[in-house]
Amino acid sequence: MLDAFGRTITYVRVSVTDRCDFRCVYCMAEDMTFLPKADLLSLEELDRLCAVFVDLGVRKIRLTGGEPLVRRNVVWLIRQLGRHVRSGALDELTLTTNGSQLARFVSELVDAGVRRLNVSVDTLDPERFRAVTRWGRLDKVMEGIAAAKAGGLAIKINTVALKGFNEDEFDRLIAWCGAEGFDLTLIETMPLGEIDADRTDQYLPLSLVRARLAERWTLEDIPYRTGGPARYVRVAETGGRLGFITPLTHNFCESCNRVRVTCTGTMYMCLGQEDAVDLRAPLRASEGNELVREAILEGIARKPKGHDFVIDRRRRRPAVRRHMSVTGG
Ligand code: SAM
Ligand code: SF4
Repeated sequence: MLDAFGRTITYVRVSVTDRCDFRCVYCMAEDMTFLPKADLLSLEELDRLCAVFVDLGVRKIRLTGGEPLVRRNVVWLIRQLGRHVRSGALDELTLTTNGSQLARFVSELVDAGVRRLNVSVDTLDPERFRAVTRWGRLDKVMEGIAAAKAGGLAIKINTVALKGFNEDEFDRLIAWCGAEGFDLTLIETMPLGEIDADRTDQYLPLSLVRARLAERWTLEDIPYRTGGPARYVRVAETGGRLGFITPLTHNFCESCNRVRVTCTGTMYMCLGQEDAVDLRAPLRASEGNELVREAILEGIARKPKGHDFVIDRRRRRPAVRRHMSVTGG
């Protein structure tokens, strides 16, 4: 799948649910209204849709959400998708998770062919963890991470950099990830969806964080790229990889290789734009996959050149109305 700007689309992120057992302050309002269950694609439909993407040349699928592991029977879907890994059609099947339910899923994930996971951890302090997730428990997440490591899964920790909240913890996180053998990625907050807090209060530019970290650690540039907005360095002291996801301060769109599908079957060609294509109607309109295939290709042809995120100080409105938990991270 080639778009109008010569980018090959090989990566799909699929949000399998908009629900979550946490209410992270930068992601959701405490009192969220979720989609009615009838609007969701069934697991069978998600499986069918993913197969069409694989058929069109997608090499990597990431399940996300909401929290993917709270969708009932999600393991069935993961196992089904594992067939594309076994056949060699997919290079990678992976998940982004908050880790709360991870411990009990590890062996099934490994059996299905999952080799790597992203787990979100914004702080290593239990009290702060409770404050930022509103409902989460750090010990459960740590248990999940330990189980995943013991099960042989490679782990990348995602940490959202929040002004005045975890600024003083990055050194500790780097040391912890280095000691455990995890990659670490710091993420700038993105203006997606109404939340209870003011986003301009949370925004911490990673250029500043990186400059501060460079005073304490030796950060060596490495050519590692994922086609996404992350830029990686090697931390010489720990040997670990450290990524910076800076969608607001840098432009990464020219190498973008991905699209996102929500749990209702809406395909967003760009995380930072509203334009989307409905894949649910064509999926349901016939048993064959021709219509949905056409709809996907039509969307890819419209994939925009780039996004125009801005955290707007005057209007104090999100740049994009939908929450991250709808489109997935
Ligand atoms: N529930 C899973 C989790 O937390 O890992 C998967 C979905 S979550 C939406 C995916 C990632 O997006 C998480 O690492 C989360 O911290 C991040 N995220 C959520 N809202 C964000 C925002 N407004 N700006 C930047 N990152 C955000
Ligand atoms: Fe849930 Fe992930 Fe959003 Fe936190 S970031 S509320 S864990 S979807």
